[in-house]
Amino acid sequence: MDEKTRDDLLNLFQSKLNEAMRFYLETCTRCGVCTEACHVHASMGQVKYIAAYRSEIVRRLYKKYFKGRGKVWPSVGEAKDLTDMALEELYEAAYSCTGCRRCMVYCPFGIDTQQLMSIAKLLLIGASAEPEILTLLADTSIEKGKSLELFKEGFLEGIKRLEADVVEKWQTQAGSTPIPVDAEGADLLYVALAGAHSIIPAAAVFNAAGENWTLSFFEAVNFGAFVGDPSKTKLILDRIVNEANRLKVKEVCICECGTAYRVMKQLSGKQPFKVSSITEVHARYLKEGRIKLDKTKLNGRVTYHDPCQIARNAGVIDEPRYILHHLTDDFREMTDDPRYNWCCGGGGGLVALGEDTLDFRMKSSKVKVDQVQATGAKILATACENCHTQLSNLNDHYKMGVDVKFLSSMIADALVQ
Ligand code: SF4
Ligand code: SF4
Repeated sequence: MDEKTRDDLLNLFQSKLNEAMRFYLETCTRCGVCTEACHVHASMGQVKYIAAYRSEIVRRLYKKYFKGRGKVWPSVGEAKDLTDMALEELYEAAYSCTGCRRCMVYCPFGIDTQQLMSIAKLLLIGASAEPEILTLLADTSIEKGKSLELFKEGFLEGIKRLEADVVEKWQTQAGSTPIPVDAEGADLLYVALAGAHSIIPAAAVFNAAGENWTLSFFEAVNFGAFVGDPSKTKLILDRIVNEANRLKVKEVCICECGTAYRVMKQLSGKQPFKVSSITEVHARYLKEGRIKLDKTKLNGRVTYHDPCQIARNAGVIDEPRYILHHLTDDFREMTDDPRYNWCCGGGGGLVALGEDTLDFRMKSSKVKVDQVQATGAKILATACENCHTQLSNLNDHYKMGVDVKFLSSMIADALVQ
């Protein structure tokens, strides 16, 4: 690595050194409490997958370049040079971590491995060593935000084709539009993912609840966050923030996508609208008596996988359970405290990398499979696209014999007319 590249990368490193990050970098006592907390280590048993070990890879660079002792006497501070080999280690650490933060809830100091891995991801971007596909997908999302007029017509035609399926699930009142788009003055802006599965059930439930809603032109997923690029994350987020402000909505409702919800909730700043996950909105409709569900629609025991970015990392824990108790009398928890639920193993961009990560994702998530199977459930519900894909892959790979379902679809299918 030449000197200029190293200097540029160290500038990127420095840009991440706020007070919290310095605390995470300077505090680890190597107590080992996090050793069994990571699903990757618990499933695969290799030292390199211990949370503190991953962090140490970043910490050694910090000691070398940003701490006095490491600069003068590297061997004592366990400092390490930033070399091409160090970049390879950073890649291995960052792209085997799903950012689930289970280790953080165990760590007595609350050290956030996901944040430390965000330094690793930023250095990889600076060295053009990140997974290229994630950057390409992020760039595509940003371009779409810049040239809305180009794809508007095609989008509206596609939405028209879904209307009959929405009405089939819920008989929309005469005169209303099954899927309103670009409706200024709507109360709620729904931000879906690309694909009918993210739009049809959601639209049916909004209509059943009599919601004054409108569908976003943009898809919720934020590939900038997956690849760890703060400026691209912000640009992708801003498309939705600007649309919400243009339409003057009171609430932005994010579909079943954990990262999209957490990014919108925690990074959109002070806005004139509130941010909700679709699970929170559905629980609210039930509490207010705006929708009713038929418990006879589901057959067999149900369990629920808490998406890390929605539950542990954003606090939406009671709402899915409230919904599930309206859907079934045979619900079984996976764990006594959902904050300690195992990650599905697909976050952090790993599912988006598809086949390239499939073998690792299957091996690193064996503890999740054991947890699901111990419930004896026939239906495995979740509320995140990434988790749904990963759990479906696990179901096929380990022949778990469960039916993996989106919570929103279960609600739409159980609506009482
Ligand atoms: S954030 Fe999750 S995947 Fe990453 S080290 Fe911690 S427990 Fe493991
Ligand atoms: S639990 Fe926290 S302090 Fe202990 S080794 Fe892990 S990261 Fe370090």
